[in-house]
Amino acid sequence: MRKDAAALRQIPSVDEVLKTAAAIASIGKYGRNSVVKAVRVTIADTREKMRGNGAVPANADMIATIAAQQLKREALPKVRPVFNLTGTVLHTNLGRAVLAEAAIDAACVAMREALALEFDLKSGKRGERDALIRDLLCELTGAEDATVVNNNAAAVLLVLNTLAKGKQAIVSRGELIEIGGAFRMPEIMSRAGAKLVEVGTTNRTHEKDYNGAIGPKTGLILKVHTSNYRIEGFTKEVKADKLAAIAAKHKVPLVNDLGAGTLIDLSKYGLSHEPTVAEAVSEGAGLVTFSGDKLLGGPQAGFIVGKKELIEKINKNPMKRALRIDKIRLAALEATLRLYRNPDTVAATLPTLRLLARKKKDIEALANKLLPAVAKASGDAYEASVIACSSQIGSGSLPQETIPSAGIAIRAKSKSGRAIAALADAFRALPSPVVGRIEEQALVFDLRCLENEKGFLDNLTSLHAETS
Ligand SMILES: *Cc1c(COP(=O)(O)O)cnc(C)c1O
Repeated sequence: MRKDAAALRQIPSVDEVLKTAAAIASIGKYGRNSVVKAVRVTIADTREKMRGNGAVPANADMIATIAAQQLKREALPKVRPVFNLTGTVLHTNLGRAVLAEAAIDAACVAMREALALEFDLKSGKRGERDALIRDLLCELTGAEDATVVNNNAAAVLLVLNTLAKGKQAIVSRGELIEIGGAFRMPEIMSRAGAKLVEVGTTNRTHEKDYNGAIGPKTGLILKVHTSNYRIEGFTKEVKADKLAAIAAKHKVPLVNDLGAGTLIDLSKYGLSHEPTVAEAVSEGAGLVTFSGDKLLGGPQAGFIVGKKELIEKINKNPMKRALRIDKIRLAALEATLRLYRNPDTVAATLPTLRLLARKKKDIEALANKLLPAVAKASGDAYEASVIACSSQIGSGSLPQETIPSAGIAIRAKSKSGRAIAALADAFRALPSPVVGRIEEQALVFDLRCLENEKGFLDNLTSLHAETS
């Protein structure tokens, strides 16, 4: 007891610690207040430990060093890059599309410089944000007019609020989907002030169902691309072109929410066909909505393209201001859209497409190359091997479709279930966290999305240091 009291008395004061070289260096980096706080916490921890198990060496230098380590950890950004080795290319929880270099450059310029954002350089008068990308969007989709908002959820909300507030929005029961993150079609409709009128049944909806439901209070017909699930068996949906004819007959607009909305035919790149925006426009929809950061491969955004008089109405809705997109993403979007003007190079310049189109044999070669380093870093308690696996597009696109891929599977030599979870934790704790998936008691790294080999290998050396 008396010994403990003596030890406790040896703990230096905050002032003593602040005089050390380490603390002075920390103050230069992080500021005095942060350092004082970290030193206090470290002293309190040290005192706590001494009370618990007695001898803990504690001089001023040691405390300053421990405080400096804590400050360094705290200074790491929370928005931090990870290696997405989940096999899901557009992983919503990992930020969806990775942007093209051209888009990154454009965004940087937009951050650094003043821009002609809403300024017409010809006349010197006030201009319009949408004007910056309208022509490109119309060219790539065949639409008469276009606008852009924060994301596709905002696009759907704005369209419903503009065209169906206080009116009916007619939707097939089979298309009342939840997109994830609490975005459910029926709820978004009621928030937009539209009255949902469901037609048909879960599996089958006919033309007569729509015709029977349309009346004087109908604001629009909504078609939702059920990209994230599929009903199979005895099913029937009314295709967009037929629906457009019904809408025209009753003089109400057809809105087609495509969700992922690709601008090019993915079947050219060995993937299944997903309806393109141009197809949806040519089928006669009044408006088509789609995301910027799904298959399009750009920043988060929501597009509304279609008939001029409808887009004009959208633009007059005061809600649009609340949903608008910022200049940084707008710059990145313009650069992304421009890449599509050259179909011969877009598969190389646009990361989303480049990753989705990557061939299994190339990924397998990469896996073989990286295997020794991954095995070494994992340590003797584990065994690593190259495996065939399946990637997914993600973000609800073509959920049934898997893309043949390759990767590395790591198994624990002991059969302990905890061993794999512990290894997965260690990979996620790396300076650049590595995120894989656990499958049949193996930690699987699908290498489809790994392009920065050197960064990956450098990062692994930290894992080796920690587990050995
Ligand atoms: C993803 C999706 C949305 C929402 O798009 P965000 O860009 O994520 O807001 C809306 N509708 C459909 C059909 C979708 O697939």
